[in-house]
Amino acid sequence: MGEFPDAWNLTHPERVADVARAYVEAGSQIILTNTFGANRIRLAENGLGAEVASINRRGVEISRAAGDGRARVFASIGPTGKLLMSEEISPAEMAAAFEEQARALAEAGADALVIETMSDLAEAQSAIAGARATGLPVVACMVYDSGKNKDRTMMGATPEQAAQALTEAGADVIGANCGQGILGFAAICRRLRTATDRPLWIKPNAGLPEMIDGQARYSATPEDFAAQIPELIRAGAAFVGGCCGTRPDFIGAIRRQLHS
Ligand SMILES: [Zn+2]
Repeated sequence: MGEFPDAWNLTHPERVADVARAYVEAGSQIILTNTFGANRIRLAENGLGAEVASINRRGVEISRAAGDGRARVFASIGPTGKLLMSEEISPAEMAAAFEEQARALAEAGADALVIETMSDLAEAQSAIAGARATGLPVVACMVYDSGKNKDRTMMGATPEQAAQALTEAGADVIGANCGQGILGFAAICRRLRTATDRPLWIKPNAGLPEMIDGQARYSATPEDFAAQIPELIRAGAAFVGGCCGTRPDFIGAIRRQLHS
């Protein structure tokens, strides 16, 4: 708590590797990298502006070693935390930050890039442009955590609007991650399916967190979560996995569900 997680690629690489390896052992075919916040904007805010290249490179190397030929490494790119709409950041500054991060991840040997937990379509489009410049496959996901039915992004975009915008921006895979538990995702997935022909990527949370003794606890069990996976596949998901709170035992439960 209180430390910038991505800095652990440099300061605690063995502990980051333990996490990645636990997911490979649980059966993940794709693992991400500990680089969600490793864009220049967020790193500079945390006194890590000189470490953009090294944190991203180590993130890929750690996951690659943990994958050990058994899991592909898709590198994570999260939001800058700055709003274009209120001019906290210029479009050019944002674009440069995403391009820089994407390039570092690609040079380190990522198999693909995953733009995730995006609330603003304009920011997602900026990230897609930077990611596409590397020539790697690009996954682009929004977080649906707003509106009465939790079917809009914080900025108000619907799944149909997002699918169309992300497709036009050139994402190879389109999806939804984070923001809510798995029960809300089948409807979002069906709506994405109506608005794009790209493969769909769905990564729900293990419910909503409750803070207990300074630790985030999630209410869903691995079995609750895994039981909903067939419904996501019927709704059109090509990639399924877990976001916040989905420990390795969730992935193990998904594998048992799919192979039973
Ligand atoms: Zn999440």
